[in-house]
Amino acid sequence: MKTRLTLPGRPVLGSIALVQHQRFECVEIRPHKTKDGRQIELTRWLCHCADCGAPFDLLTPRRNAPVRVDRRRCAEHRDPKRRVKIPVGAEA
Ligand SMILES: [Zn+2]
Repeated sequence: MKTRLTLPGRPVLGSIALVQHQRFECVEIRPHKTKDGRQIELTRWLCHCADCGAPFDLLTPRRNAPVRVDRRRCAEHRDPKRRVKIPVGAEA
């Protein structure tokens, strides 16, 4: 079964979300105008690469419903085809 990884909707500044032990902190909420001219809000999450721990930003729309997490690694390790492995004890 595929797990849907989501961040909570309507986060506030300082909100912390945990997605499979990975910590996402809401560090900014800012207004944004979409290509079709709608005014929305974006949430900037600060998180750490699942591979090397380097910090990176994730921008998601701020809306009432949870949003999918589509990025869990820094720019260097970013690879959408590779899934993040959940550490199981012995794995180094
Ligand atoms: Zn990395």
